[in-house]
Amino acid sequence: MKTRKISRRSMIAATSAGVVGSFLNFSFMPFEITGRTQVKKLAITGGPKVHPGSWPGWPVWDQSAEPGLIEMFRSGRWWRGSGEHVEEFEREYARLMGAKACVATASGTTALQTSLAVLGVDAGDEVLVSPYTFIATYNAILSHKALPVFVDSDPETFLIDPGKISERVTDRTVAIVPVHIYGLPVDMDGVNNAAGKHSLKVIEDACQAWLAEYKGKRVGSLGDLGCFSFQNSKHLASGEGGAILGNDEELVDRCHAYHNCGRPFGRMKPVEGNQYNGMNYRMQQSQALILLSQMKRIEKDNDVRLGNALYLDSRLKEIPGIVPYRLASGATRAVYHMYPFRYIKEEFNDLPKEKFLRALNAEGIPAGSGYGRQNHDGLMEEAFSSRGFRRLFPESRIKQWHEQNILPGNDKLSEQAVTIYQSVLLGSRADMDDIANAVRKVYENRDSLV
Ligand SMILES: *Cc1c(COP(=O)(O)O)cnc(C)c1O
Repeated sequence: MKTRKISRRSMIAATSAGVVGSFLNFSFMPFEITGRTQVKKLAITGGPKVHPGSWPGWPVWDQSAEPGLIEMFRSGRWWRGSGEHVEEFEREYARLMGAKACVATASGTTALQTSLAVLGVDAGDEVLVSPYTFIATYNAILSHKALPVFVDSDPETFLIDPGKISERVTDRTVAIVPVHIYGLPVDMDGVNNAAGKHSLKVIEDACQAWLAEYKGKRVGSLGDLGCFSFQNSKHLASGEGGAILGNDEELVDRCHAYHNCGRPFGRMKPVEGNQYNGMNYRMQQSQALILLSQMKRIEKDNDVRLGNALYLDSRLKEIPGIVPYRLASGATRAVYHMYPFRYIKEEFNDLPKEKFLRALNAEGIPAGSGYGRQNHDGLMEEAFSSRGFRRLFPESRIKQWHEQNILPGNDKLSEQAVTIYQSVLLGSRADMDDIANAVRKVYENRDSLV
């Protein structure tokens, strides 16, 4: 796999100077000659594929983890209480992410549940949340018998629109969960200012945003607590796993206690018996060892993803009806768990997105359609009709929730979003040309598809 080396600094300098196009020197070329040979007939109608080959797989095993894992397994010291590896991972992860403290957890979901618990989210409370996210974000809120209240997305950024936070606050609102979806950093000043005005706790869902930066600082330590996932598909993968970051060490101690059956930790006073509530959300030693080995590759991988994403931005934006994401105000580095863009079907003769995707997939490009209108998920209705929810929330509030559950920005985003999985961005520059050429090929043949 050959990838042109572009340092992060030169890439950012190039983008901010607005010279990426000329820097990469393609903008004047017809698309036929920037990649492999183009053939006009679409693969979906029997023509040859633009990209007949494969794409980089994920995850990538690191053999250097093997001796440590075998030693640990043979010793029988498998859980965190019997070894040093989880603690070592917590130290290293906090250092890598520029946060004061870290608690490793069993998953991103349990990291969110722990954070919500420690920050006092209780049954009958309301929590503001981005609707453009994975189900786990609002499931964690529901698991506390709190009401997820969706704040509309800005379709251009794919992210929560900070200007729409205040209008959703009620006297029950206690916290907000902004989501750095796809590794695109949220405008955290916007979120923190709104949160400050209404005394809300801020829990960042950074489960797709390892090493993404806002104003030069790594996300996940810009609110009260930040949550990460290390599930198999994630940039930092260990099968399952998660972490919480924070700069208030006392707060992180309480997270540690909560995730370990409530046992007091760190600065907390040791007590007789069981005084604190908690769960078992612990990470295992094997997960920590895998993560320590995977951490060696993440910065390099992220550089490759960034270089390829910026290149794709510059090529795709030349195609009518294709709109790359826009970084939110203050975002300085995205990490692309998915590479996202918007498909404007009106420019493709009203070709539905599903047909566009099928044609693109047939060309050998693994593009998907992103998240749907999650604010209409049936699981919300299931929760509302439960005995517990009916006791906790007056009918009038649930009625109002439905009346306010109109999110035009998010609807538009769900309709238009197209996503390409992160490991594809670990391919070569010629691979990226294939993606852009395939999109253009579908565009040029749009009439034959409608
Ligand atoms: C992956 C993910 C989670 C949940 O993480 P798990 O480790 O799968 O529990 C939460 N939020 C977002 C945005 C995610 O991508």
